[in-house]
Amino acid sequence: MLGEGIIKGMGETARNFFGSYVKEDRLTTVQYPEERLPQKEAARNFPFLVYDGKDWDKGLRCVACQICEKECPPQCIYIVKDATKKPDHIGKMQFQAKVFDIDISVCMSCQICVEVCPFEAIKMDVEYELSTGDRFGQLLLHKDQLAKSNDYYRKIHPTEAAEVDARMGAEKAKAEAKAKPAAATSATPSKP
Ligand code: SF4
Ligand code: SF4
Repeated sequence: MLGEGIIKGMGETARNFFGSYVKEDRLTTVQYPEERLPQKEAARNFPFLVYDGKDWDKGLRCVACQICEKECPPQCIYIVKDATKKPDHIGKMQFQAKVFDIDISVCMSCQICVEVCPFEAIKMDVEYELSTGDRFGQLLLHKDQLAKSNDYYRKIHPTEAAEVDARMGAEKAKAEAKAKPAAATSATPSKP
């Protein structure tokens, strides 16, 4: 029937309008910014860099492999790799990023950087009140602004972070188990 869609749409609008006087779930408008809806766990906005331990600089998981930089569709990640390895938060020698910038005025929140990172080093944040007129002052985020702790990650995406923790724990245990026989063999004195 001609105009059926319009009638249905108007019916739905009327149902919500009159229903909002009697039913809370029909009142979908929130008086933002005084009121805010609770965020969904799967919400995402722009990426951040995860660090372990207390020192954000040493604890960053990023080893500057630059895969995310290459794969980012709008090319809004800029990385300069350190020339030499440095100790991380547990003293392991790692390459790190001397510069790690993300231009969030260009980022399209696609999460490809997260998916391609082999080190669980970059994740999606949920912060969204970032509007500003100063693009270069505030929308080009540097390493120190992007660094956020694993505890923060656990808080905003608890299910996902628990899976990552479990995966990393299992990989660490596997690597330690593999290293043990090798260490034992090298410690065994050779026969004369
Ligand atoms: S965030 Fe991940 S993919 Fe990007 S440079 Fe760092 S380790 Fe590599
Ligand atoms: S979310 Fe997408 S656009 Fe944004 S930095 Fe990551 S890969 Fe690039």
